[in-house]
Amino acid sequence: MAEEDTKGITISKDKDFSAWYSQVVQKAELADIRFGIQGFLVHRPWGFMIIRKIYEYLEQAVEAQGHLPFLFPIAVKEADLQKEKEHAGFSPEVFWVESAGSKKMEERFALRPTGEAQIYPLYSLWFRSHNELPFKGYQSRISVYRNEMTTRPFLRGREFLFFETHDVFNTHEEALDQIQQDLATCENVIREKLKIPFLYFKRPDWDRFKGADATYSPDTIMPDGKKIQLASTHDLGTNFSKAYTIQVLGKDEKKHYVWQTCFGPGIWRSMAALIGIHGDDQGLILPFAIAPLQIVIVPVTFTDKKDVTEKIVKVGQKLEAQLSKVGYRVKFDNGPDTPGAKYNHWELHGVPLRIELGPKEVARRACSLVCRTEKKRIPVALTAVEKDIKKHAKMLDEALEKRATAYFKHNTRSADLFADLKKLLHQHRGFVKSPFCSVHKEGEACADKLQKETEGAVVCGTLYPQEEKVKSGQQCIMCGKAAKHLVYIAKTY
Ligand SMILES: [Zn+2]
Repeated sequence: MAEEDTKGITISKDKDFSAWYSQVVQKAELADIRFGIQGFLVHRPWGFMIIRKIYEYLEQAVEAQGHLPFLFPIAVKEADLQKEKEHAGFSPEVFWVESAGSKKMEERFALRPTGEAQIYPLYSLWFRSHNELPFKGYQSRISVYRNEMTTRPFLRGREFLFFETHDVFNTHEEALDQIQQDLATCENVIREKLKIPFLYFKRPDWDRFKGADATYSPDTIMPDGKKIQLASTHDLGTNFSKAYTIQVLGKDEKKHYVWQTCFGPGIWRSMAALIGIHGDDQGLILPFAIAPLQIVIVPVTFTDKKDVTEKIVKVGQKLEAQLSKVGYRVKFDNGPDTPGAKYNHWELHGVPLRIELGPKEVARRACSLVCRTEKKRIPVALTAVEKDIKKHAKMLDEALEKRATAYFKHNTRSADLFADLKKLLHQHRGFVKSPFCSVHKEGEACADKLQKETEGAVVCGTLYPQEEKVKSGQQCIMCGKAAKHLVYIAKTY
């Protein structure tokens, strides 16, 4: 195999999504899986710059809602973790630090599996009066640790990237309003910036976070038909304020337990969805807002014509400076590779727009613009280049959105009979909307049966905030009792 071939993607996304995904992760230099400790991933510069953009947009979105940043240590006290387990029933596989050097620790501590058990003990010290609320805090660009047995880049790891808000209110109404704002953050970042379509579900009771009164999540479908949860937001009620004694003095001069919410967009999962949903057989495709590099300028030079080459380089450098000045992330790639190798390299990395500068173009005071999605060469006068970049960036984003939405709609179907559900899950996978007896405790047996008889399909939940109405006569797809809800069912990671 020639050197050129080994650099590119050699597997078709449609034929073998899982193998294609692994190739893109490695060949587009998103992550390195050779660190040598299972489940610990190295984020390479290109991948980490994409992730940093996701973080930036999330930080902007939550700060616009009044959230303040804080940073807690990586450690959690055993007693605080125990409280979460006793009161909220949440007990993930935790890593313990038991010794330092040759000495055993006097008191072992855990690596945080999530933030509640480390943040809420401090919240119980921070707030005294209802006047201090609401308080909205968040931490960003951190990792959490759980001993996962099977791991995959950006899907599951023993260490994974995290972002979490933890909000405290005087009333349940304010907490519920925050849930709406969390949904708005998902719209703003996941749909608008990442161009990933999703449905927002209220989870069935058996599938909510153990310490929450209700859990909501935006879910999307990956190209292999499995659903992936992109975030979760929890109405914690007063469960944690009771567990960690977070109380404030109300207007009535009495102590009240506070109402809490927390919101955790999946940084890794958003990355996995971005790779999987937009990529093609040439590699990654990045929406304009997310791309670490939005425009690459490639000189098409001939070594035997030195004066022409110099002219092209000069025009290229000038164009790079001009576009950078108006705020684009742009690079003039004047490296030693051939133009063709550069095209392949930047296509593999998903750069949205490419500008080609050859002798003919430069003589005409023009360039060629190539979109990562269309790959047609569009001649553009250098005087019009800013206007055309703006236009084509928008067109690229719209094309990505349209394609993702079409796939999403095509793979969201309905079934009223179990035989049809089974067939749909097998043939098309994706979401299937079906009537269901109950999303509360009494429906759990039907959900268990569903999982067993469909090789792992789960009830994602009911649509939120507008639950769809059941038609009269519709029966639970599992037990045949009168259906109370329309739920969405899908196979999952
Ligand atoms: Zn049922």
